[in-house]
Amino acid sequence: MREVRLGDDIDDYCVRCKRVMNHLVVSVMNAEAAKVRCRTCHNDHDFRHETAPPPKVDLRKQALFNDVLKTVDPTAAPVEAALEAEEAPESKAKGKTKT
Ligand SMILES: [Zn+2]
Repeated sequence: MREVRLGDDIDDYCVRCKRVMNHLVVSVMNAEAAKVRCRTCHNDHDFRHETAPPPKVDLRKQALFNDVLKTVDPTAAPVEAALEAEEAPESKAKGKTKT
């Protein structure tokens, strides 16, 4: 295994360029790159071992989706549901038999 030194060229994923780019090693820890600087956009970041970070957009989408579910969910709503919940907290939906 090759020892990494300050100023070395190294491939890593750049979040700004959104792809694996040529980087410059700016910090070394245990003979491994700790921090790198993108040679294209000069963005400093932790060495990612050429892996892309998990997409944050999906998390936000998920949160929005959960909010929508909350507003639509009939069990999370009005007084009527809350009263029924006292009798059968586990099976609100199933026990709703109107005969
Ligand atoms: Zn970049």
